[in-house]
Amino acid sequence: MKIVEPARELPVKGSYDVLVIGAGVAGVSAALACARNGKSVCLVEREYILGGLATAGIVAIYLPLCDGQGRQMIGGISEELLKESVRYGSGEIPSCWKEGGDPELRQKIRYKLRFDPPAFACALDQLVAQAGIHLMLGTTMSSAVKEGQEIRYCILENREGRFAVSAKIFIDASGDAVLAWSAGENTAEFVRNRLAGWYYSYDGSEYKLNIVQESLKGPDKEVKCLYGGISTDDVTQFCLDSRQMLLQHALQFSMDTTITQIATIPQIRMTRRLKGTLEIDESDEGRVFQDAVGCFGDWRKAGPHFTLPYSALVGETKNLLVAGRCISASESAGDIIRAIPVCALSGEAAGTAAALALDCGAQTVRSVPLDSLRLRLLQNNNILNWKVQGEKTNDKS
Ligand SMILES: Cc1cc2nc3c(=O)[nH]c(=O)nc-3n(C[C@H](O)[C@H](O)[C@H](O)COP(=O)(O)OP(=O)(O)OC[C@H]3O[C@@H](n4cnc5c(N)ncnc54)[C@H](O)[C@@H]3O)c2cc1C
Repeated sequence: MKIVEPARELPVKGSYDVLVIGAGVAGVSAALACARNGKSVCLVEREYILGGLATAGIVAIYLPLCDGQGRQMIGGISEELLKESVRYGSGEIPSCWKEGGDPELRQKIRYKLRFDPPAFACALDQLVAQAGIHLMLGTTMSSAVKEGQEIRYCILENREGRFAVSAKIFIDASGDAVLAWSAGENTAEFVRNRLAGWYYSYDGSEYKLNIVQESLKGPDKEVKCLYGGISTDDVTQFCLDSRQMLLQHALQFSMDTTITQIATIPQIRMTRRLKGTLEIDESDEGRVFQDAVGCFGDWRKAGPHFTLPYSALVGETKNLLVAGRCISASESAGDIIRAIPVCALSGEAAGTAAALALDCGAQTVRSVPLDSLRLRLLQNNNILNWKVQGEKTNDKS
């Protein structure tokens, strides 16, 4: 059965150079990159906290910026956010990765850390405010209004009701490709997520992160249940099962131990993503894409090297970029590109590309001059290609 929703007029409550949907690490990075490149930016977030899974989802490990063999792979805003994640919290940057640190130790100790999610969220608030970004918390994007192959407006909903916001360029950093999907882009869903119930507890002396989850290794048939990330029933069941799992875990401890913090958004790793003309795949290890805008390692093991192709951030819509865990990647690569540092990397690339597209009057985001994009990223301490690391010149590979 279907009903026809009555047509109604909506107020347009703002017009920006760039509208970013979702303020996880990818959305915050995209918004920062864009605003620091002189653009007016509105950042829309459904929750009331910045950071997405990293904060509301209490995923408190900033996975490595290095390749596990002593080489730094990611810099830029991603490295800035790693440092911000511990600015007000208890985590620490490994000393060998501080300036002048021991290069030998860098081969053994990865450039990653544990942070306190609430402290990270507070630091993100400050960064966003300093950059002059117009932040809308508690605001959900429900649909895109297109004209031809361009998005003109996003329809948003919050306590004020339903309204529209216009922008020249839109960035989907929702983690769920919600804007790309609404704009009619080709998308793919991952429906085999394993249960996770990370939580914090306090036993009278220690405030502890408990990583409770089904193992990520082994065949799917060994797992009790697999979950999609879009279906309402799946997401609801995931949340309920996740809380029962962590509760059972907590009940093993003495009566003095109490659950102090649980995720307030589903800890679902992969949901829906853009399915663009190019999907990064695990087999692209070692490949330098012609349109590489960054590089990254594999958080699961030392050694692999990947480049981030710009084409994984764009679809058919002329003024839409995608960032974070919903960029165009195969299922196997999805497990690598969803790490916090890589999400921040694709966020910065998308935000910088949006600003550049406006500066040079590009007809579509796909046609931004790659040399100029790479130069801007290099100027912000990004690393485009692990093979030419340290070079501050334009990468022509
Ligand atoms: C159980 C688990 C363990 C993990 N472990 C680690 C780890 O140890 N280290 C690591 O680096 N990574 C880990 N990850 C992965 C990592 O946390 C995420 O992939 C990454 O944080 C995603 O960032 P993002 O910005 O792309 O998306 P998200 O963090 O999902 O942010 C998207 C944001 O968009 C908002 N949003 C969504 N839809 C709308 C809408 N319609 N309107 C407005 N706002 C919207 C959401 O509220 C959210 O804030 C883990 C993930 C999970 C689930």
